[in-house]
Amino acid sequence: MEDLKSIIRNIPDFPKKGILFKDITTLLGDAKSFQRMVDLLSHRYVGQKIDKVVGVEARGFIIGAALAYKLGAGIVLVRKPGKLPSKTFKKTYDLEYGTDTLEIHTDAFNKGDRVLIADDLLATGGTMAAVVDMINSMDVELVECCFMAELEFLEGAKRLPEGKVFSLLKF
Ligand code: IMP
Repeated sequence: MEDLKSIIRNIPDFPKKGILFKDITTLLGDAKSFQRMVDLLSHRYVGQKIDKVVGVEARGFIIGAALAYKLGAGIVLVRKPGKLPSKTFKKTYDLEYGTDTLEIHTDAFNKGDRVLIADDLLATGGTMAAVVDMINSMDVELVECCFMAELEFLEGAKRLPEGKVFSLLKF
């Protein structure tokens, strides 16, 4: 895993002073690293009957779509406000750099769907906790919240359902 971790670039003072941002575009842009990351993440869920993968805007779409394709699942989009065209559930939450709102289509799932949520990075956990809240109200089974990377020192996993968090790369 160290080779995959080392390809993620650190950007100091982005998006504001004092934040050391993990720029994953360097990993995504490297063909071998991208393929290996998707293979390693998807391998964990092969044979688990995943009906839908939920991708969180925006970088979660990339990872979520790749996982859904690999697992033979549908991809469901969690988007910023005003982007989804049909009826939505909304959730406002705190995040590392302020507050935000997310939306999901009310008819995104079938009753009892087994759902995997994917995002690029777990920081404080606010974003994923909001997505979990929405999904828990939707009559589906949450399989796991999975991330390409996690900033462990921020302890975001503590805000998520115990035993249902997986991160491939830990910083
Ligand atoms: P959280 O809600 O604090 O866990 O922040 C996670 C969300 O913010 C994810 O959707 C990430 O895409 C984004 N994020 C926060 N910090 C970083 C970072 O250092 N690199 C890339 N994305 C980040």
